[in-house]
Amino acid sequence: MKFFCLTLFPEMIDMCMNTSIVGRAIKNELISMEAINIRDFTSDKHRRVDDYPYGGGAGMVMQAEPIHKAYESICNRLGKRVKLIYLSPQGKVFNQNDAKELAKLDEIVFLCGHYEGVDERALELTNAECYSIGDYVLTGGELPALVMMDAIARMVGGVLTNNESADFESFEDNLLEYPQYTRPVEYEGLRVPDMLLSGHHKNIEEWRRKESIKRTFYNRPDLLKNANLSKKDLIFLDGLKEESGDLDD
Ligand code: SAM
Repeated sequence: MKFFCLTLFPEMIDMCMNTSIVGRAIKNELISMEAINIRDFTSDKHRRVDDYPYGGGAGMVMQAEPIHKAYESICNRLGKRVKLIYLSPQGKVFNQNDAKELAKLDEIVFLCGHYEGVDERALELTNAECYSIGDYVLTGGELPALVMMDAIARMVGGVLTNNESADFESFEDNLLEYPQYTRPVEYEGLRVPDMLLSGHHKNIEEWRRKESIKRTFYNRPDLLKNANLSKKDLIFLDGLKEESGDLDD
C-alpha cells in the first residue's frame, strides 16, 4: 500500500506517520507514505494556493490548479489513474469496513482541504471520493487523513503482529470489544472479574461474548441490527432488553 497525501502541511503528516506501529510498517516497507506540498504546484509567484469564493461569503477557497497538477504528477509517475479521497465533513462517514476495503488497493491519494474547502472543479477533475471522519468540522483535512491512513494501514497484511491482532476488536462482527484488564489483580479496591482469572477458556470466551453484546447494546445499539448473533446470543440480548425496559426490536 502506498499512501500519498496532498497537503499544505506535509510536516504534520510526516511527524505522525513515522511513529509507533505505522512507523514500523513504513520502516519494514509494508506500506509507504509520501506527503506532497500542494504549494509546490502553484504557478503563483507568491506561492498562493487559495483565493476568495465566487459569489461572496466568508473565508478562502483552495484553487483547483495546484491540486489538479499535484494529483496528475502522481498519476504520471505511476502511469495510471489513482483513487483520490477528499477529506470532507460532507463525505460518507468512514468506518471499519471501509478501512478493510480500502486496504486492498495498491495506492490511495488523500487530499486535505483547508479554509472553506477546495474549488469543486478539483474534485471533478480528480474523480474524488469524499469521506468524513464524523459529524463535526475540523480546521483541516490532515487529522482526518491521518485517521484514515492509520485505520487502513492496520488492515494491510503483516502490519500488525500476532500480539496486536485485529481479529477480536470492536466492529468485528458489528460488536464492540469486551472489557480488558491487566495486572495487578486488584487496584484501588477494584478487582479483575473472577472469570478472567479462572483459566477456563470456554467460559472466558462465553463471558467475553456476553460482555461484548452488553457493551454494544448500551453504547452502540445501532450496530446490533447487522451483528451476526446466535440463538444463545439473542436470548441473552432479550434478557438485556427486559432488564433495561427496552422491549423494542
Ligand atoms: N466549509 C466546509 C464545509 O462546510 O463543508 C468545511 C471546511 S473545513 C473548515 C476545512 C477542511 O477540513 C475541509 O476541506 C476538509 O478537508 C477538512 N475537514 C473538516 N472537518 C472534517 C471532517 N469531519 N471529516 C473530514 N474532513 C474534514
